[in-house]
Amino acid sequence: MSNGAVPKREFFGIMCAFPSIEKEKKPMSKFDLTKKKAFVCDLDGTLFMGPNPIESAVKFVIDNTKSGRFRYFYLTNNTSKCPEEYMKKIAGAAIPVTPEQILTPLITLEAYIREKGYKSVYLIASEKVKAHMAARLADAGVSLDYDPERNELIALTYDKELTYAKLADATSLWNMRNCPPSPMCPVRTRNQTPVDFVATHPDNCCPSERGPIPDIGGMMKFLEITNGMKPSHVFGKPSPTLLAPVLAEFAPEEIAVVGDRLYTDKAIADNAGVDFVCVLSGETTLEDLAAYKGTPPAIVVETFDKVECGPN
Ligand SMILES: [Mg+2]
Repeated sequence: MSNGAVPKREFFGIMCAFPSIEKEKKPMSKFDLTKKKAFVCDLDGTLFMGPNPIESAVKFVIDNTKSGRFRYFYLTNNTSKCPEEYMKKIAGAAIPVTPEQILTPLITLEAYIREKGYKSVYLIASEKVKAHMAARLADAGVSLDYDPERNELIALTYDKELTYAKLADATSLWNMRNCPPSPMCPVRTRNQTPVDFVATHPDNCCPSERGPIPDIGGMMKFLEITNGMKPSHVFGKPSPTLLAPVLAEFAPEEIAVVGDRLYTDKAIADNAGVDFVCVLSGETTLEDLAAYKGTPPAIVVETFDKVECGPN
Protein backbone atom coordinates (compact mmCIF):
# COMPACT_ATOMS: atom_id res chain seq x y z
CA MET A 1 0.00 0.00 0.00
CA SER A 2 1.34 3.45 -0.77
CA ASN A 3 0.14 7.02 -0.27
CA GLY A 4 -3.12 5.91 1.37
CA ALA A 5 -4.29 4.09 -1.75
CA VAL A 6 -6.48 1.06 -1.24
CA PRO A 7 -6.93 -1.91 -3.56
CA LYS A 8 -9.71 -0.67 -5.83
CA ARG A 9 -11.41 -3.87 -6.84
CA GLU A 10 -11.29 -5.52 -3.45
CA PHE A 11 -12.62 -2.57 -1.48
CA PHE A 12 -16.32 -3.23 -1.44
CA GLY A 13 -15.68 -6.94 -1.80
CA ILE A 14 -14.22 -6.72 1.68
CA MET A 15 -17.36 -5.02 2.94
CA CYS A 16 -19.47 -7.83 1.52
CA ALA A 17 -17.16 -10.50 2.93
CA PHE A 18 -17.72 -9.32 6.49
CA PRO A 19 -21.42 -9.52 7.34
CA SER A 20 -22.35 -8.38 10.84
CA ILE A 21 -21.45 -11.04 13.39
CA GLU A 22 -22.36 -8.87 16.36
CA LYS A 23 -25.44 -10.84 17.26
CA GLU A 24 -23.83 -14.28 17.04
CA LYS A 25 -22.72 -14.18 20.69
CA LYS A 26 -19.33 -15.72 19.98
CA PRO A 27 -17.54 -16.85 23.15
CA MET A 28 -15.04 -14.44 24.70
CA SER A 29 -11.79 -14.88 22.81
CA LYS A 30 -8.49 -15.55 24.53
CA PHE A 31 -6.56 -12.42 23.67
CA ASP A 32 -3.08 -13.33 22.45
CA LEU A 33 -0.82 -10.31 22.02
CA THR A 34 1.88 -12.42 20.36
CA LYS A 35 -0.46 -13.02 17.38
CA LYS A 36 -1.14 -9.30 16.85
CA LYS A 37 0.67 -7.35 14.14
CA ALA A 38 -1.59 -4.31 13.74
CA PHE A 39 -3.61 -2.13 16.10
CA VAL A 40 -6.34 0.17 14.83
CA CYS A 41 -6.53 2.95 17.42
CA ASP A 42 -9.38 5.25 18.24
CA LEU A 43 -7.98 8.66 19.21
CA ASP A 44 -10.11 10.52 21.75
CA GLY A 45 -10.37 8.59 25.03
CA THR A 46 -7.76 6.08 23.85
CA LEU A 47 -4.60 8.02 22.96
CA PHE A 48 -5.83 11.54 23.77
CA MET A 49 -8.14 13.15 26.24
CA GLY A 50 -9.26 16.19 24.28
CA PRO A 51 -6.04 17.92 23.19
CA ASN A 52 -3.87 16.14 25.79
CA PRO A 53 -2.05 12.85 25.14
CA ILE A 54 -2.68 9.93 27.53
CA GLU A 55 1.01 9.61 28.34
CA SER A 56 1.40 5.88 29.08
CA ALA A 57 -0.69 4.87 26.03
CA VAL A 58 1.21 7.23 23.75
CA LYS A 59 4.58 5.97 25.05
CA PHE A 60 3.48 2.38 24.30
CA VAL A 61 2.63 3.37 20.72
CA ILE A 62 5.88 5.32 20.23
CA ASP A 63 8.08 2.50 21.61
CA ASN A 64 6.41 -0.20 19.52
CA THR A 65 6.34 1.94 16.38
CA LYS A 66 10.05 2.60 16.66
CA SER A 67 10.87 -1.07 17.33
CA GLY A 68 8.59 -2.19 14.48
CA ARG A 69 6.80 -4.63 16.79
CA PHE A 70 3.32 -3.46 15.80
CA ARG A 71 1.87 -1.43 12.93
CA TYR A 72 -0.60 1.22 14.06
CA PHE A 73 -3.54 2.78 12.24
CA TYR A 74 -5.58 5.71 13.56
CA LEU A 75 -9.33 5.72 13.22
CA THR A 76 -11.74 8.64 13.06
CA ASN A 77 -15.25 9.17 11.71
CA ASN A 78 -14.87 12.96 11.63
CA THR A 79 -14.94 14.17 8.01
CA SER A 80 -14.95 17.85 8.93
CA LYS A 81 -11.17 17.52 9.18
CA CYS A 82 -8.60 16.43 6.62
CA PRO A 83 -6.29 13.46 7.39
CA GLU A 84 -3.39 15.97 7.59
CA GLU A 85 -4.99 17.58 10.64
CA TYR A 86 -5.02 14.21 12.44
CA MET A 87 -1.43 13.60 11.38
CA LYS A 88 -0.53 16.92 12.98
CA LYS A 89 -2.25 15.95 16.25
CA ILE A 90 -0.60 12.51 16.36
CA ALA A 91 2.82 13.83 15.35
CA GLY A 92 2.36 16.56 17.98
CA ALA A 93 2.46 13.79 20.61
CA ALA A 94 5.80 12.62 19.10
CA ILE A 95 4.23 9.52 17.51
CA PRO A 96 5.84 8.79 14.10
CA VAL A 97 3.00 8.77 11.56
CA THR A 98 2.50 8.61 7.78
CA PRO A 99 -0.64 9.49 5.74
CA GLU A 100 -1.61 5.87 5.03
CA GLN A 101 -1.98 5.24 8.79
CA ILE A 102 -4.94 7.64 9.05
CA LEU A 103 -8.27 5.88 8.48
CA THR A 104 -11.11 8.31 7.78
CA PRO A 105 -14.30 7.80 5.76
CA LEU A 106 -12.87 10.26 3.22
CA ILE A 107 -10.61 7.38 2.11
CA THR A 108 -13.68 5.15 1.77
CA LEU A 109 -15.45 7.85 -0.22
CA GLU A 110 -12.49 8.21 -2.58
CA ALA A 111 -12.39 4.43 -3.10
CA TYR A 112 -16.15 4.38 -3.71
CA ILE A 113 -15.97 7.14 -6.35
CA ARG A 114 -13.09 5.37 -8.10
CA GLU A 115 -14.76 1.95 -7.94
CA LYS A 116 -18.04 3.29 -9.36
CA GLY A 117 -16.18 5.32 -12.01
CA TYR A 118 -18.11 8.50 -11.18
CA LYS A 119 -16.84 11.61 -12.95
CA SER A 120 -19.30 14.20 -11.61
CA VAL A 121 -19.93 14.31 -7.86
CA TYR A 122 -21.80 16.94 -5.85
CA LEU A 123 -19.56 16.96 -2.77
CA ILE A 124 -21.11 18.67 0.25
CA ALA A 125 -18.03 19.54 2.27
CA SER A 126 -16.05 22.43 3.72
CA GLU A 127 -13.67 24.22 1.36
CA LYS A 128 -10.58 22.53 2.88
CA VAL A 129 -12.11 19.04 2.67
CA LYS A 130 -13.24 19.71 -0.89
CA ALA A 131 -9.71 20.82 -1.80
CA HIS A 132 -8.31 17.67 -0.16
CA MET A 133 -10.69 15.42 -2.12
CA ALA A 134 -10.01 17.30 -5.36
CA ALA A 135 -6.27 16.70 -4.90
CA ARG A 136 -6.83 13.00 -4.10
CA LEU A 137 -9.01 12.54 -7.20
CA ALA A 138 -7.04 14.78 -9.56
CA ASP A 139 -5.78 11.82 -11.59
CA ALA A 140 -9.33 10.46 -12.10
CA GLY A 141 -10.78 13.61 -13.72
CA VAL A 142 -13.62 13.93 -11.20
CA SER A 143 -15.57 17.19 -10.84
CA LEU A 144 -16.83 17.86 -7.30
CA ASP A 145 -19.18 20.77 -8.08
CA TYR A 146 -22.97 20.93 -8.20
CA ASP A 147 -24.02 20.22 -11.79
CA PRO A 148 -27.66 19.09 -12.08
CA GLU A 149 -27.27 17.70 -15.62
CA ARG A 150 -24.09 15.72 -14.95
CA ASN A 151 -23.89 14.83 -11.23
CA GLU A 152 -23.87 11.04 -10.70
CA LEU A 153 -23.40 11.11 -6.93
CA ILE A 154 -24.30 13.34 -3.98
CA ALA A 155 -21.65 12.83 -1.28
CA LEU A 156 -22.41 14.28 2.15
CA THR A 157 -19.61 14.90 4.66
CA TYR A 158 -19.64 16.53 8.11
CA ASP A 159 -19.68 19.98 6.54
CA LYS A 160 -19.22 22.69 9.15
CA GLU A 161 -19.77 25.25 6.37
CA LEU A 162 -23.16 23.79 5.46
CA THR A 163 -25.62 26.33 4.07
CA TYR A 164 -29.30 26.27 3.19
CA ALA A 165 -28.28 26.61 -0.49
CA LYS A 166 -26.24 23.37 -0.33
CA LEU A 167 -29.16 21.45 1.22
CA ALA A 168 -31.57 22.93 -1.35
CA ASP A 169 -29.22 21.95 -4.21
CA ALA A 170 -29.01 18.37 -2.90
CA THR A 171 -32.78 18.00 -2.58
CA SER A 172 -33.49 19.66 -5.94
CA LEU A 173 -30.99 17.32 -7.62
CA TRP A 174 -32.78 14.36 -6.03
CA ASN A 175 -36.17 15.80 -7.09
CA MET A 176 -35.01 16.20 -10.71
CA ARG A 177 -33.50 12.74 -11.04
CA ASN A 178 -35.03 10.36 -8.48
CA CYS A 179 -38.58 11.48 -7.66
CA PRO A 180 -41.39 10.22 -9.89
CA PRO A 181 -43.32 13.10 -11.48
CA SER A 182 -46.10 14.25 -9.19
CA PRO A 183 -47.94 17.49 -8.37
CA MET A 184 -45.51 17.89 -5.44
CA CYS A 185 -42.42 17.18 -7.54
CA PRO A 186 -42.99 18.27 -11.15
CA VAL A 187 -39.36 19.12 -11.99
CA ARG A 188 -37.40 16.84 -14.36
CA THR A 189 -34.16 17.35 -16.25
CA ARG A 190 -33.09 15.87 -19.57
CA ASN A 191 -30.82 13.53 -17.63
CA GLN A 192 -33.20 10.92 -16.23
CA THR A 193 -30.52 8.68 -14.66
CA PRO A 194 -31.09 8.42 -10.90
CA VAL A 195 -28.43 10.12 -8.83
CA ASP A 196 -26.63 8.08 -6.12
CA PHE A 197 -26.34 9.45 -2.56
CA VAL A 198 -23.81 8.46 0.14
CA ALA A 199 -22.87 9.83 3.55
CA THR A 200 -19.42 9.53 5.08
CA HIS A 201 -20.52 8.36 8.57
CA PRO A 202 -23.64 8.01 10.72
CA ASP A 203 -22.88 10.11 13.85
CA ASN A 204 -25.81 12.13 15.18
CA CYS A 205 -23.69 14.40 17.31
CA CYS A 206 -20.10 15.46 17.80
CA PRO A 207 -18.80 15.72 21.38
CA SER A 208 -17.44 19.15 22.24
CA GLU A 209 -16.48 21.19 25.27
CA ARG A 210 -20.01 22.69 24.95
CA GLY A 211 -21.60 19.22 25.00
CA PRO A 212 -23.05 17.46 21.92
CA ILE A 213 -23.20 19.59 18.76
CA PRO A 214 -24.80 18.61 15.41
CA ASP A 215 -22.91 16.12 13.23
CA ILE A 216 -23.89 14.57 9.90
CA GLY A 217 -26.86 12.58 11.30
CA GLY A 218 -28.99 15.71 11.55
CA MET A 219 -28.00 16.73 8.03
CA MET A 220 -29.16 13.35 6.67
CA LYS A 221 -32.42 13.70 8.61
CA PHE A 222 -32.92 17.20 7.20
CA LEU A 223 -32.72 15.80 3.65
CA GLU A 224 -34.83 12.74 4.42
CA ILE A 225 -37.75 14.65 5.90
CA THR A 226 -37.71 17.06 2.94
CA ASN A 227 -38.23 14.58 0.09
CA GLY A 228 -37.42 11.09 1.43
CA MET A 229 -33.85 10.91 0.13
CA LYS A 230 -31.74 8.31 1.96
CA PRO A 231 -28.10 7.34 1.38
CA SER A 232 -27.33 4.06 -0.41
CA HIS A 233 -24.19 3.71 1.76
CA VAL A 234 -23.10 5.20 5.06
CA PHE A 235 -19.35 4.77 5.59
CA GLY A 236 -17.37 5.17 8.84
CA LYS A 237 -17.69 3.34 12.14
CA PRO A 238 -19.40 0.88 12.60
CA SER A 239 -19.10 -0.02 8.88
CA PRO A 240 -16.12 -2.36 8.38
CA THR A 241 -15.33 -0.61 5.08
CA LEU A 242 -13.14 1.79 7.07
CA LEU A 243 -10.84 -1.14 7.96
CA ALA A 244 -10.42 -2.26 4.34
CA PRO A 245 -6.85 -0.90 4.01
CA VAL A 246 -5.82 -2.84 7.16
CA LEU A 247 -7.62 -6.02 6.13
CA ALA A 248 -5.85 -5.81 2.77
CA GLU A 249 -2.50 -6.09 4.59
CA PHE A 250 -3.19 -8.30 7.63
CA ALA A 251 -5.28 -11.35 8.51
CA PRO A 252 -8.21 -10.64 10.89
CA GLU A 253 -6.53 -12.57 13.74
CA GLU A 254 -3.46 -10.32 13.42
CA ILE A 255 -5.55 -7.15 13.94
CA ALA A 256 -7.15 -5.59 17.01
CA VAL A 257 -9.23 -2.44 17.28
CA VAL A 258 -8.57 -0.46 20.47
CA GLY A 259 -11.08 2.10 21.65
CA ASP A 260 -13.25 3.49 24.44
CA ARG A 261 -16.73 3.22 22.90
CA LEU A 262 -18.66 -0.06 22.71
CA TYR A 263 -21.28 1.18 20.19
CA THR A 264 -18.75 2.45 17.65
CA ASP A 265 -15.24 1.05 18.26
CA LYS A 266 -16.39 -2.41 19.39
CA ALA A 267 -19.10 -2.47 16.73
CA ILE A 268 -16.60 -1.92 13.89
CA ALA A 269 -14.31 -4.63 15.35
CA ASP A 270 -17.25 -7.06 15.57
CA ASN A 271 -18.43 -6.20 12.06
CA ALA A 272 -14.93 -6.84 10.66
CA GLY A 273 -14.43 -10.02 12.74
CA VAL A 274 -11.37 -8.74 14.65
CA ASP A 275 -10.58 -8.55 18.39
CA PHE A 276 -11.58 -5.48 20.39
CA VAL A 277 -9.40 -4.03 23.16
CA CYS A 278 -11.60 -1.91 25.44
CA VAL A 279 -9.80 0.87 27.30
CA LEU A 280 -11.24 2.47 30.43
CA SER A 281 -9.41 5.74 29.79
CA GLY A 282 -12.38 7.28 27.98
CA GLU A 283 -16.14 6.88 27.86
CA THR A 284 -16.81 3.25 28.87
CA THR A 285 -16.83 2.37 32.57
CA LEU A 286 -16.79 -1.01 34.37
CA GLU A 287 -20.49 -0.38 35.14
CA ASP A 288 -21.19 0.03 31.40
CA LEU A 289 -19.38 -3.26 30.71
CA ALA A 290 -21.34 -5.07 33.45
CA ALA A 291 -24.59 -3.87 31.87
CA TYR A 292 -23.47 -4.57 28.27
CA LYS A 293 -25.61 -7.24 26.57
CA GLY A 294 -23.32 -8.04 23.60
CA THR A 295 -20.26 -10.27 23.49
CA PRO A 296 -17.55 -9.01 25.85
CA PRO A 297 -14.45 -7.25 24.49
CA ALA A 298 -11.45 -9.59 23.92
CA ILE A 299 -9.66 -7.73 26.73
CA VAL A 300 -10.42 -4.77 29.02
CA VAL A 301 -7.54 -2.57 30.22
CA GLU A 302 -7.21 0.71 32.13
CA THR A 303 -5.06 2.28 29.41
CA PHE A 304 -3.81 0.91 26.07
CA ASP A 305 -0.27 0.17 27.36
CA LYS A 306 -1.70 -2.30 29.92
CA VAL A 307 -2.52 -4.66 27.05
CA GLU A 308 1.05 -5.88 27.64
CA CYS A 309 -0.05 -7.34 31.00
CA GLY A 310 -2.74 -9.54 29.40
CA PRO A 311 -6.22 -10.36 30.71
CA ASN A 312 -6.70 -10.05 34.46
MG1 LIG B 1 -13.03 7.50 21.52
